[in-house]
Amino acid sequence: MIIDGKKEAAILRDEIKKEIELIKSKTNKVPGLTVILIGDFAPSQIYVKNKEKKSSEVGIKSEVVRYSKEVTEQEVLKKIELLNNDNNVSGILVQLPLPAQINKEKIINAIDPKKDVDGFHPINVGNLSSGYKSTVPCTPLGCLLLIKKIESNLSGKHAVIIGRSNLNGKPMAQLLLKENCTVTIVHSKTKDLRTECLKADILVAAVGVANLVKGDWVKENSIVIDVGINKVGDKIVGDVEFDIVKDKVKAITPVPGGVGPMTIACLLKNTLECFKDR
Ligand code: NAP
Repeated sequence: MIIDGKKEAAILRDEIKKEIELIKSKTNKVPGLTVILIGDFAPSQIYVKNKEKKSSEVGIKSEVVRYSKEVTEQEVLKKIELLNNDNNVSGILVQLPLPAQINKEKIINAIDPKKDVDGFHPINVGNLSSGYKSTVPCTPLGCLLLIKKIESNLSGKHAVIIGRSNLNGKPMAQLLLKENCTVTIVHSKTKDLRTECLKADILVAAVGVANLVKGDWVKENSIVIDVGINKVGDKIVGDVEFDIVKDKVKAITPVPGGVGPMTIACLLKNTLECFKDR
């Protein structure tokens, strides 16, 4: 089965839209998302445009604050403080990567954890790892929702995650632990990647190396989630050798059209949750 991320994301966005309409009819209020975009890095411009479009489609009031790549850290921190105190703003997202003069850690730490729709603030990271309620980074959250569409009870499953980034691998591991999976994280220093991957009932590849996961690295009847986005010539491919793996496994996400659309839908979900919590 090829998991249709576009379709699942559209279903999720539709649910969010309906909930926002209902809230608006009762309170005349809607969630607000502010994105801070610094510089002119082309992929960031595209991501932010997409986030803006999808937000307004579901009824989230979105605003983009743009700065030139020369902006000072102090100026951005001042803006974050204003947004933290603005009752019309439910979510704040600072689009990464940032220019060299701006310290990513300082910026993430400055965002009110209750408005941290990316789930990167240490309070949210800590809450997630303690098993408490938290805002969860959008991509791993999207992966979990896709996995649960295939298999609702993950208890006792062996999940293997390739990659240990704060953005993907680590929160993915926490989410799957919370689902009672046995979790293995592998990375660039892991000795025998293939042997580890072969144990997986659920394999999540979040690496950024085109076609790293080969056909003989996956177990029959497993679920494979490919987070990777890699440019090969003029094609976008994932971290998994899709054409071979797809015939062996129970379900797999394609690239593009798998995890990517769910990431933005989960950003909208996080924005709505932050709005409701406040
Ligand atoms: P990252 O921060 O670069 O982390 C990559 C991880 O992969 C690291 O833990 C690294 O290990 C590990 N790794 C690198 N080469 C390896 C190898 N040959 N064998 C085993 N492990 C290896 O990347 P990221 O931000 O997590 O992103 C991963 C991929 O997901 C990228 O392609 C990115 O574009 C994509 N992505 C997609 C979405 C989406 O919405 N679909 C969202 C975000 C990111 P070490 O820790 O040992 O260095």
